[in-house]
Amino acid sequence: MSARHNSSPLTRQVTLTVLTLAAFALAIVVGFGFYAAGQADNASLERQKMFIADGLQDQIAAVEREQESVSVWDDAIANVRAGNQTWIEENLSVWMYTYYGHNRVYILDAANHAIHAMREGKVVDASAYGEDQPVLLPAIEKLRGMLAQAPEADTSGQPAKLFAEDLVSLDGKPAILSVMPLVPSSDKVTQAPGTEYLHVSVEFINDAVIGKLARKYLLEGARLAPLSEQVGPAAVPLVDSRGVILGYIGWDQLRPGLALVRKIAPALAVALLLAGGVLVFLLRRLRRASAALQTSQDQAQYLAFHDTLTGLPNRALFEDRLRRTLLFASQDRTRVALLYLDLDRFKHINDTLGHPAGDELVRQTAARLKHTIREVDTVARLGGDEFAVILLDVPDVGSAEDIAERLLLKLRGPFRLIDDQVFVSASVGIALSSGSDTDADDLLRKADIALYEAKKNGRGRYKLFAGDMDDLLLRKRKVESELRKALDGEGGIKLAYQPVFAADGRGILGAEALIRWGHEMHGALPAAQFIAIAEERGLIGELGKWALSEACRFAVTTELPWIAVNISPMQLRDVGFAEEVAEILRQTGLDPSRLQLETTESVLLEHNDAIGTVIAALRQSGVHIVLDDFGTGYSSLSYLRRQAIDKLKIDRSFVRLLDEDQSARAIVKTLIELALALKVEVTAEGVETDAQKALLVGMGCRQLQGYLLSPPLEPGQLLALPGVSSADRELSAARA
Ligand code: C2E
Ligand code: MG
Ligand code: MG
Repeated sequence: MSARHNSSPLTRQVTLTVLTLAAFALAIVVGFGFYAAGQADNASLERQKMFIADGLQDQIAAVEREQESVSVWDDAIANVRAGNQTWIEENLSVWMYTYYGHNRVYILDAANHAIHAMREGKVVDASAYGEDQPVLLPAIEKLRGMLAQAPEADTSGQPAKLFAEDLVSLDGKPAILSVMPLVPSSDKVTQAPGTEYLHVSVEFINDAVIGKLARKYLLEGARLAPLSEQVGPAAVPLVDSRGVILGYIGWDQLRPGLALVRKIAPALAVALLLAGGVLVFLLRRLRRASAALQTSQDQAQYLAFHDTLTGLPNRALFEDRLRRTLLFASQDRTRVALLYLDLDRFKHINDTLGHPAGDELVRQTAARLKHTIREVDTVARLGGDEFAVILLDVPDVGSAEDIAERLLLKLRGPFRLIDDQVFVSASVGIALSSGSDTDADDLLRKADIALYEAKKNGRGRYKLFAGDMDDLLLRKRKVESELRKALDGEGGIKLAYQPVFAADGRGILGAEALIRWGHEMHGALPAAQFIAIAEERGLIGELGKWALSEACRFAVTTELPWIAVNISPMQLRDVGFAEEVAEILRQTGLDPSRLQLETTESVLLEHNDAIGTVIAALRQSGVHIVLDDFGTGYSSLSYLRRQAIDKLKIDRSFVRLLDEDQSARAIVKTLIELALALKVEVTAEGVETDAQKALLVGMGCRQLQGYLLSPPLEPGQLLALPGVSSADRELSAARA
């Protein structure tokens, strides 16, 4: 199993996505906050600029208003005309300074000559006007122009209040300039047009002025910024009538948005911290969950390709490895050996010691195999007690055989299973890859065949695959397919019938059906051979059913007391078999008591309840069970004792030895006596000589079968024998 990863690609991907989303969300929240704050600040700034600009306009209007309070005045005209400097000082100039804060005042006569000058509350020589004149003149001349054009009086008789104002720069300082004519406040004083005195007022826009108007709007840090100063966004330009910028009013920008952000920042930070904490917590859980998911994925993957009992690669993984190994080997021009290993009599251990012990044996076997081979080689469990070993880079046949021998040796040591110590052996089939074209299935098949041969040759050994084994397999395959065709109705299969005779010469007791297959290509194949193939290839059920039906159908047409049909042990393992026999008997109309089923001992040794049930059901229905080839297997005497069978047939091999072998004679004699004592019928098969017949009859055997009496016959031939066909029976009855 691969090492556990702390973070899988999936976890990384999910974490990255979540973090990206979180960062994105955070950026949006923060970005939006700052954007909103910025927008609020911008809107506020516009308002602040408007306030300042309005304030400046108000200031200008105030200067005009203040000037107007002294310029529309009869006394003013009178005193100016009189050149009363003291009065002018007290009412028109210094007073303007002390009362309103106007910084400079000039009184000009009709020819624009200064007759009075005041600076910063002090009367100065009128010539001081000369210094300021270039700056003031445009406004003065503008007013003069207006006065020249103005109608003398409006309809109410009041002269129009004309004035000129502008922003100017005096001595490098911006200032509000207002120029007004001195006009009468009543009609007691007359003034010819063009003779007007002018009142010129200058108020510097200094920090005091600015501070006053800024305070009104609660703005702080308001100041005059000269042109040379780099001003920020919170500034309003001072522009004169010609559009020239004279300076700026700057202040500390009020930023309500930013202030709000600052105010909620701590709360926001706490909230973000909490959200971050929750996120981290969730991510951790996610990582853990996805790590668990990954682990279970790994586990599922592992389980899909490994055997749970041993932890070895399973068949799927093995086949994949074999394929890859062969591919690489063909590229590297090296050879691969495949060892197919199977424990001998594993089933026996399972049956006698129980499945837990069987599992333990498999586990320990796996461990021993694994420890015997190199790290680069693969051992896999293909199922049950079957293992396969892939050996890489095998230089020659000998080294593969060496390893097989080593594996067998290793398995020969005692196994401690739960409570028992057992010794087991194994068989190994070896197949080597040849050149570049070895196919995995092919190699596996060859190793399988070699294993089969190893088992056949006495177990506990290895066998190398040889070419003729392949031929054998091919022939088996061929037979299989031909047999299938024959069963599918192509014909060629027949039954022969070998009669069984009464020992006392009273004629035919019954007949045994023996299958025959005369194939055009294979000739007459021995029954035992193709039956073995049918058993191996799963065709025996069908073949057996055919033989049974055919024999029963034949038997009803005869006067034979009974017909015997051979049954494969495999058929008896089928729980539906008894029912199948009953159905055939119904269909053919044969009485169950006229049917005998012959099977071999191996079946009875299986301690299989299902088989016991099937046999009991068959006997219950009246069918007789015959134990064929008795004496060759494990001669289960307990079956005889329990009377679970009706008849036994002493195997041909004993009968053949009767003439010459004393011990064979003793065995046969004992068997016959035993059977008679237990009231089980006995037939001797394969009787070929008169001597054998005489001996058997002498021992008390009452049923004989063999070439001496009759070989297996065609149905017609059998019917021709006395007492078999019904016509014959009627004939002999008539004779009597
Ligand atoms: P089996 O049931 O023991 O049949 C007796 C075999 O001995 C038959 O061989 C028979 O031809 C042969 N035989 C009979 N008398 C003599 C003799 O005096 N000397 C010698 N040397 N042989 C004799 P066969 O027909 O080749 O059958 C071989 C085996 O094939 C049978 O042994 C039986 O086990 C099996 N078999 C035959 N027919 C069927 C069948 O329909 N179904 C099944 N499941 N097995 C069958
Ligand atoms: Mg038989
Ligand atoms: Mg036999």
